Amino acid sequence: MSHKFLYYFTEGSEAFHGDMTQMRNILGGKGAGLAEMTAAGMPVPPGFTISTEACTLYYKEGRQINEEIQKDIFEHMKGLEKITGKTFGDINNPLLVSVRSGARQSMPGMMDTILNLGLNDASVEGLAKKTGNPRFAYDSYRRFVQMFADVVMGVPKSLFEEEIDKMKAAKGVKNDIDLTAEDLKKLVEIFKKIYEDHEHKPFPQDPKEQLIEAVKAVFRSWDNPRANVYRKMNEIPYEWGTAVNVQTMAFGNSGNRSGTGVAFTRNPATGEKELFGEYLINAQGEDVVAGIRTPSPISHLKEQMPDVYEQFVQIAQRLENHFKDMQDMEFTIEDGHLYMLQTRNGKRTATAALKIACDLVDEGMIDEEEAVLRVDPKQLDALLHPQFDADALKKATPIGRGLAASPGAACGKVVFTADDAKEWAARGEKVVLVRLETSPEDIEGMAAAQGILTVRGGMTSHAAVVARGMGACCVAGCGEIVVDYEKKQFTLGGKTIKEGDYISIDGSTGYVYDVAIPTVPATISGNFGRYMAWADKVRKLKVFTNADTPRDAKQASDFGAEGIGLCRTEHMFFEGERIKAMREMIVAETTEERKKALAKILPYQQGDFEALFEIMGERPVTIRFLDPPLHEFLPTKEEDIKEIAEEIGVTVEKLKNVIAGLHEFNPMMGHRGCRLSVTYPEIAEMQTTAVINAAINVTKKTGKKIEPRIMIPLVGEAKELKYVKDVVVATADKIIKEAGIDMKYEVGTMIEIPRAALTAGEIAKEADFFSYGTNDLTQMTFGFSRDDAGKFLDAYYDKKIYESDPFQHLDQKGVGRLVKLSAQEGKAANPNLHLGICGEHGGDPTSVEFCHFAGLDYVSCSPFRVPIARLAAAQAAIKDKRAKAAK
Ligand code: ADP
Ligand code: MG
Ligand code: MG
Repeated sequence: MSHKFLYYFTEGSEAFHGDMTQMRNILGGKGAGLAEMTAAGMPVPPGFTISTEACTLYYKEGRQINEEIQKDIFEHMKGLEKITGKTFGDINNPLLVSVRSGARQSMPGMMDTILNLGLNDASVEGLAKKTGNPRFAYDSYRRFVQMFADVVMGVPKSLFEEEIDKMKAAKGVKNDIDLTAEDLKKLVEIFKKIYEDHEHKPFPQDPKEQLIEAVKAVFRSWDNPRANVYRKMNEIPYEWGTAVNVQTMAFGNSGNRSGTGVAFTRNPATGEKELFGEYLINAQGEDVVAGIRTPSPISHLKEQMPDVYEQFVQIAQRLENHFKDMQDMEFTIEDGHLYMLQTRNGKRTATAALKIACDLVDEGMIDEEEAVLRVDPKQLDALLHPQFDADALKKATPIGRGLAASPGAACGKVVFTADDAKEWAARGEKVVLVRLETSPEDIEGMAAAQGILTVRGGMTSHAAVVARGMGACCVAGCGEIVVDYEKKQFTLGGKTIKEGDYISIDGSTGYVYDVAIPTVPATISGNFGRYMAWADKVRKLKVFTNADTPRDAKQASDFGAEGIGLCRTEHMFFEGERIKAMREMIVAETTEERKKALAKILPYQQGDFEALFEIMGERPVTIRFLDPPLHEFLPTKEEDIKEIAEEIGVTVEKLKNVIAGLHEFNPMMGHRGCRLSVTYPEIAEMQTTAVINAAINVTKKTGKKIEPRIMIPLVGEAKELKYVKDVVVATADKIIKEAGIDMKYEVGTMIEIPRAALTAGEIAKEADFFSYGTNDLTQMTFGFSRDDAGKFLDAYYDKKIYESDPFQHLDQKGVGRLVKLSAQEGKAANPNLHLGICGEHGGDPTSVEFCHFAGLDYVSCSPFRVPIARLAAAQAAIKDKRAKAAK
């Protein structure tokens, strides 16, 4: 074979060698971890990895595994037979394997694993005889049939679970482990019948067929809906593909000296340095995660099997030292022997991520720069959102308590299904999702909810792991809850809570309350503050904020904003008396009338600007002049038109005429932005007067040198900018001269029309700065609007035409090219030009990285994204530095 697609991980074998990133790319995260552990001499059941490249090839060849790779798979099975002394498909001593997926980045619960593959009606008896443990043999077989049917054929899991429940009820036992060999044997027959009814063919008895079908199913699962949702949420490219790991089984279900578990080297909720995990005796696979029985904490293993515990503690420490990060490990114990099945950098809450990063620096394991790379900027979001108001919390009495699975405060109306969570959230309701347990199908509903409350499952249950990954608040395993899905209610602590009732849950303590508890804003202190200081040290991009109100400016300032990159003045026109003056201005028929109305708005604007200047002091404040089309300020409903006509003192007929006159076929491309000031220069005059007066007043009052920046929107032609700029400069200079004050100010423009980007060299000669308005620039470059694109973009994601929303992540190929090109040409024409971005993208980590590499000076984003942008900018600077050093 010309290209290598399969790699053993067996003692002394030729595993794939390279750095960890390269290994993950080819072997997937799980395969790379298995290869590393094997190479380090740790007890790993031998196996091999089918590379991610084989997955890509599978899709390229029309969802087929080609002959050569199939042949190679069976060659590798021969290799495993040699090592284990067992034979694949043998009746007396069958080699059984697991088939496991593993993408580059871990995608918990997204891909499905099949265990005990290789069993059939004949070999299950052989296994029973050979081990003298028929209960174990039939338990393995019933699991295999169940998993194969579910994962490969899509037979609903619930059909099997119902049968297990029926069997348990019939035998009067509570737990699956209390079922006997006979019971399990019966279940196997029932399961095979379910399979046959569903598939109209018998359960496959040929292990080779089982194996190839399983491998295909893993490849296929890369494209299943929930994987696609997860990928989109986490920006994982579709091209990556998944690897498949085929591994000989270690049996955790072979009795009371066996078991399976999950553990972290540090606490994933708090970051505390302590071995943290759970296990179940006589269990297999994901029994722990699925919340089948309540697991024991890992510390109990110390008493139950001290040798195994000691060995595990040592391995855990070695793994952490090797990967220099907190590890999340999966293990199985078979008859007192420990086997390691997985290790990866563990998912953790934002609080834990910061603590672990700081501790690793203090322990000398990593340096500050490496630490800055360790926390996903998006994760910080969880720390920036409100916490429960401490006083209100003290007064509230909890009605119950579960596990503090993922911190944060959540308050909302109770819903019982993921679909309801999605629907209610879409219509603006805050909800808390209450479930017995969650499963991968629930992921969208979980993302839509304020918080998640589950009845079953531990700290490593699906709900807990996924919630921590999303930064969502979660209380798990609140076992006292009795849920009645049918009646849509649950009881806890003697209270009955119905769908739509408010509850509050505290993911940091595990308490559940039957009242709505108010929340308060977060602050940056402790580890968070220390960490952000490291980030600020290396960062090159400045981080500004988009703020229209003193409240936003204050919030952003508390979060470290270094200026205001966008203050939208139109937001100031809507309140109370202001809108009336604005409307008078719009209906004015002469310049004089218009000026009179504008004069009424002036003091409001000036007051608003003063408030912003006072908060921001000498940090730049960029004020954008009036931008939206004027009709947005006028009423549409008949009764409103009547009322407003009376209010501003014109006839209804006249107002209607004005409204009709302002009608535009395509308002977003109509009379707006600087076009308003070209037709009515008195608007720019008034706004300039307000800005400059405010700056003078605050300079006089505070002694701080206020340096306002005036930003002209929607420019597409240098002469257009020059026309408005001349009005601004004439007005400003006159006021400054009269005040006898020495004040600097800047006049710049937004680059949001492709033509502006394409003629940046000319425009730059008239501008002190460019600020990329990437919302409009994206709309105009793609030719579809942000408000309408939602209707068809889903089809584009499904068909893999676009992978992500260009309004969320800057389209680097097209829009980004306009940014780079115009930045270069702008700087060439005007070396003093400074460059920034003020679209929503300014707070999106991948877009921030792009801005760093495009040579911009600052990004500006909403207040709550300021810390995220600070960290993303720091990470970009470090990557840049490392890439240059490597050259
Ligand atoms: P996930 O990606 O969902 O974590 P895994 O491939 O890790 O899926 O499989 C889930 C679980 O199945 C593992 O944690 C382990 O308990 C069990 N498992 C997988 N392979 C084996 C094996 N060869 N022997 C025993 N248990 C296995
Ligand atoms: Mg899983
Ligand atoms: Mg796993």
